[in-house]
Amino acid sequence: MGGRVGVAVLGSTGSVGRSTLSVLERLRDRFQVVVLTAHQNVSALAEQVERWAPDLAVLCDSDVPLPGAGPTRWVRGWEGVLGAATHPGVGIVVNAVVGAAGLEPTCAALQAGKRVALANKESLVVGGRFVLEAARRGGGELVPVDSEHSAIFQCLGGRGADAIRRLLLTASGGPFRDRDPSTLSAATPQEALRHPTWEMGAKVTVDSATLANKALEVMEAHFLFGVPYDAIEVVIHRESIVHSFAEFVDGSLLAQLSAPTMELPILYALLHPERVAYPAPRLDLAQVGALHFEALPPGRYPTFELGIEAARDGDASRIAFNAANEMSVAAFLRGDLPFTGIPQVVEAVLRRQAPAPVTDLRTALDVDREARARAQRLLPELRE
Ligand code: MG
Repeated sequence: MGGRVGVAVLGSTGSVGRSTLSVLERLRDRFQVVVLTAHQNVSALAEQVERWAPDLAVLCDSDVPLPGAGPTRWVRGWEGVLGAATHPGVGIVVNAVVGAAGLEPTCAALQAGKRVALANKESLVVGGRFVLEAARRGGGELVPVDSEHSAIFQCLGGRGADAIRRLLLTASGGPFRDRDPSTLSAATPQEALRHPTWEMGAKVTVDSATLANKALEVMEAHFLFGVPYDAIEVVIHRESIVHSFAEFVDGSLLAQLSAPTMELPILYALLHPERVAYPAPRLDLAQVGALHFEALPPGRYPTFELGIEAARDGDASRIAFNAANEMSVAAFLRGDLPFTGIPQVVEAVLRRQAPAPVTDLRTALDVDREARARAQRLLPELRE
């Protein structure tokens, strides 16, 4: 085993989880996969276990029987994921869990002193303050995997918030950026899942169509880099080649560019500050020719606007925004809510959200649960 660093991949059968394993495939001399966890896809997880022979495999919630044979210990349930995040053989936890469920493992891993390569933006959206506290207390290190935040992290090169004047997050505009807004109520999940530039999981792809994803990323940037919401802007960039900008107090902007592949931010999160040779797709700027930037058209992305408002309203609204969005996206993907119902559910949930102080993780999770229940009750009314 030598000096290889142990890695836990939480959410290993999802899009970022699978990309993480492709990166690790090329770095077998540096890293060892010690834990794999999946939500419910037991057959995909069993295949990965066969290939990687980790110490531990965790399946979160499924009633199917666990495969028992082989050297890997199989565990079922959320307790198992927390155990995975704090496993003594693990130095880096890649958190690619989808949704607010990722928060507790993020805190547990940071508290245990691990490096967390964070692909689960909801950890910061729901529990930003508690995540930062856990890192301070336990000595863990938080490194972004989200491409925009990885770009900014790379541009900052260790400089703190006092060097930043503004952060500029780029957004592709999603699959409906050129679609007539009056036809959006008829948009199908299949259409929403056809992203113009990025290959991602279903939830994130729908969030890119509403731009809820970008609102969540603004919140994520606020906590990760310690800058106020007024200093974070979003610009539409169709080519998805500039992954974001950091503008410094002296007026200079740095950007990070690459072909759109999740493997690069994952690679950097695993190895930073080191860079190693890697066969990423080459970016041919002469062939790209031009890069375009546009302001967000006002009124076009109501879910995004609700998210920014919620972020400024404080902890409870921010948590409720995320919960309502998760519930409505799931309903849309099931065919139980029209695309235009997503901002309607979110707005209705936020309207009923009292500005409660959120001073501990329990309360954050309670606000999350209550907002979900509220969204659940609203869904039948908004079904068309
Ligand atoms: Mg992103």
